[in-house]
This record gives sequence, structure tokens and C-alpha cells, in this order.
Amino acid sequence: MEIAKVGVVGAGQMGNGIAHVLALAKYDVILNDVSQDALSAALSQIEQNLDRQLSRGKISEDEKAQALGKISTTLKLPELGATDLIIEAATERETVKTAIFEDLLPHLQPHTILTSNTSSISITRLASRTDRPEKFMGFHFMNPVPIMQLVELIRGIATDEPTYNSCLGVVEKLGKTAASAEDFPAFIVNRILMPMINEAVYTLYEGVGSVASIDSSMKLGANHPMGPLELADFIGLDTCLAIMNVLHDGLADTKYRPCPLLTKYVEAGWLGRKTDRGFYDYRQDPPVPTR
Ligand code: NAD
Repeated sequence: MEIAKVGVVGAGQMGNGIAHVLALAKYDVILNDVSQDALSAALSQIEQNLDRQLSRGKISEDEKAQALGKISTTLKLPELGATDLIIEAATERETVKTAIFEDLLPHLQPHTILTSNTSSISITRLASRTDRPEKFMGFHFMNPVPIMQLVELIRGIATDEPTYNSCLGVVEKLGKTAASAEDFPAFIVNRILMPMINEAVYTLYEGVGSVASIDSSMKLGANHPMGPLELADFIGLDTCLAIMNVLHDGLADTKYRPCPLLTKYVEAGWLGRKTDRGFYDYRQDPPVPTR
């Protein structure tokens, strides 16, 4: 099916990035949020990010203007009913997502595909609460969306092939690369990445190495562009802990138990870059390890 018009629900850091890349690829985009402030902030963030691409010669002035012209915003969810594809990127809470899909259903066209950008909630369970589980799947972008190349496409148990192929067509038109994943906890990237980060925190907790030695070991010894603790601070330690809990609960295997030190940092409100303190203290430049 040809997708021309896309609705994006949630205008936070992921939603604005998704709207940005869709508009540059010439899709008509309607961006929705419950907060007018979030919609205004998203539009200025998109403009700022387009300007950065312009200054680096990645896009032209014309492409920037055309992309901005492709995005409209609304506080009214039913206005997304006229789209061919919906990408839900609202707050990571199952009750929030379920309510969004329930509110959307009466306004959708029969062919509209529903997707969620969730990092951890079961696609099959979200799909089962709609009238079209065969036209429902996971569309998981990575952060920051305009930069990261990968999109995980997650099939729920009922997702049909035409739906998968339509979403794959969108990923290709965005110039990104899709990885196909089945609907099991944390999908592929986080299933592999989060246990590595959690193990790095255990390595710190058990005194095997300091923050600096663990990060430089993985950068210089395994050729990772960022150390695991530096990366954890970038992602957000609360997010890392939440994903470890999803793996632990969903797969019922003790190998996924979150490190007590990770829990302690979250309890302290030391969530990484967004709170200025995590495994590093960002109130100083350069950041100083906190252990
Ligand atoms: P965010 O907190 O930056 O943005 C969420 C937005 O959703 C907010 O603007 C909020 O006002 C809006 N919202 C809340 N309830 C809503 C509703 N009922 N209708 C419309 N909008 C509503 O969050 P984010 O980091 O952009 O994450 C969004 C989704 O993307 C989550 O499912 C998250 O798991 C997923 N995700 C996040 C990342 C990441 O690194 N942040 C990466 C991949 C996927």
C-alpha cells in the first residue's frame, strides 16, 4: 500500500525526530500531543535540527523549507484519522498508549496501519486491544532519530505481510535500514545492549574497575565509540533500569537482574546527562567520574 500521510502521536524527543525524517522524505505529517507547549517545542527543535543539517551541507535551503511545510500540528487526536499510517511515540506507559489507540479507532480509515515506537511494551498486547491486530506492528526508531541509521520493525503475532512490507517501504524511503525483530522483551538492540551496560555496572559495583577504567577498556579494547557507562548516562539510567526490569520480568531469567548499584543511582535521582549527574558529573567540564 502506498503511504502518503503519516500521523505521529507524541511530540517529545522521539516524536519530533520521527516527524523531521518523515517530512524530509516528503511524507505529509500530522504531529499530535496533549500539550501545546510540547508541539511548539517540537517545531522549534525540528527547525534547529534542520538548520544543523543545512549548515553541514546535508540538505539545501529548499529542502528545509519543504520539510517544514510538510508538518502540521494538532491537539485533536481524531484529526489523525485521515492518515495511512500512525506512529505512536507518546510516553512509555501502557495505559497511555492503549487509551490513544482506543480514542483513534472510531476515526481511522479501514486501511490505516497502526504502529508504536515503544521500547519495551508488548506489540501483540497493544495490537489485541485494537480492531486491526493484523495491521499493527512495532516501528522502533533509535535516538537521535535524524542521525541513527537503524529502525527495528517488530511483528506482533498477528501482523500480516502487506503491513510489514508497507512499513519496510517507509523505512527505505527514509534512507534508513530495517532490522526485523519478533515481539519478545526489548526486541534486538536493547536485548543485547542493556545486559552489556548492566554488566558494566556490576563490574563497577564489584570493584573490578573504576568508571574511567571500564569505559576506556571498552573504547580502546573493544573499539566501542562510547564506554558503556558513558552510554548509560546518555540513554538515562532510569530508562536502562526500566528495560532491565522488562527483560527480567518478561524472560524470567536471573541473568537479567538489574545491578543494585544501577537501582541506587536511580533512587538518588542521578539519572545521567538529563539530571547533570550519573556515572559522570556533568556540572564540570570535562565531566568527572562519580566513582
Ligand atoms: P518524551 O517524554 O520525550 O515524549 C513523550 C511525549 O508524549 C510528550 O510530549 C507528552 O506530552 C506526549 N504525550 C503523553 N501522553 C500523550 C497522549 N495521550 N497523546 C499524545 N501525546 C501524549 O518521550 P520519548 O523519549 O520521546 O519516548 C516516546 C516513546 O519512544 C516511548 O514509547 C519510548 O519508549 C520510545 N523510545 C524512546 C527512545 C529514547 O531514547 N528516548 C528510543 C526509542 C524509543
